[in-house]
Amino acid sequence: MRRRLTSFDKVPALLWDDWRWQLRNRITTLDELWRVVPPDESETERLRHVVAQFPLSITPYYASLIDFDDRQCPIRRQVVPSIEEIEDSGGVEDPLGEVEQSPVQNVIQIYPDRVALTAVKQCPVFCRFCFRKRLFSTAREGAGCGLEKSIEYIRGTPQIKDVLVTGGDPLIASDSFLERLLKSLRSIPHVEIIRIGTRAPVVLPQRITPGLCAILSRYHPLWVNTHFNHPKEITPEAQEACDKLSRAGIPLGNQSVLLKGVNDDPDTMRELVRGLVRMRVRPYYLFQCHLVRGTRHFRTTIEQGLRISGALRGHVSGIANPLFVVDTPDGKVPVLPRRGLKRREGDFVVLETFRGTEWREYNPT
Ligand code: SF4
Repeated sequence: MRRRLTSFDKVPALLWDDWRWQLRNRITTLDELWRVVPPDESETERLRHVVAQFPLSITPYYASLIDFDDRQCPIRRQVVPSIEEIEDSGGVEDPLGEVEQSPVQNVIQIYPDRVALTAVKQCPVFCRFCFRKRLFSTAREGAGCGLEKSIEYIRGTPQIKDVLVTGGDPLIASDSFLERLLKSLRSIPHVEIIRIGTRAPVVLPQRITPGLCAILSRYHPLWVNTHFNHPKEITPEAQEACDKLSRAGIPLGNQSVLLKGVNDDPDTMRELVRGLVRMRVRPYYLFQCHLVRGTRHFRTTIEQGLRISGALRGHVSGIANPLFVVDTPDGKVPVLPRRGLKRREGDFVVLETFRGTEWREYNPT
């Protein structure tokens, strides 16, 4: 059940709907947190160590989605610290080897024709499962640090056709910063596509203002990839944010992470992908949770991901099917359910359908 947070219930709608107010009033300490979610008081002292290592940040809006009466609430699980984070000695800080694959500050280049530009090292909300946790646990760089050199690198590397502006979350930056950044990227003749990776429609939908949409629409072709993990995140506010982006001509995709206790069952995932396509957001990737230190309690098996992926195929529209991938230092590897091509029988191939039946398709050699 969604309810306005007690400590914020007197906030006028004008402020609540202002993304800057939401940022200024983020919950960043355990004492603030226990005022809005059921406390883990017996754990508070140990949780202080967790927060010292991996900071806490939740917008009042996203905190308002937490079900106060449900300790297993999937929204709570994504953002409320857990002692399991410091009990996990497995995993690594940088599972994709991004530090080594960074030719210049802020640029990660794993593929020949594309780069990720980590323009901003902050996020409205710190997700406990984040694969770039290392960015939050170390330096607190402001937006734009070293960006001139990053842009110069992209300008001097003609094989780069596609720039993914990411972070952190780039939409935490001001309109003027984003406009300058997009203008610089658009002035590079070989950059064909600009993409923005952001969780703002999920955790800070107030950020999607008409002014921001007007800026983004000046730099087409520009795509936005967002990051919904659970159907509870598809609120009227999130729908309105996605609708504004779509009306600005921006194609929207969604990347989800498979998270234990959040979305690791077929029913939840079906509800999520259906909700996404209803608001014109194409489910794009479903990621196996990365092997990041401090996230073991979120990890499911690849086989579980395959089962979920297999349970979607044929049961939801083709456009609602995300590709299940394992992200590796050498790029994303799609992992497909073992349906499809079974064997050849003379001039026929035998295919397995989503119903588990076999179909013989005439296909002479
Ligand atoms: S919004 Fe994205 S980058 Fe930021 S903490 Fe969450 S998963 Fe990590």
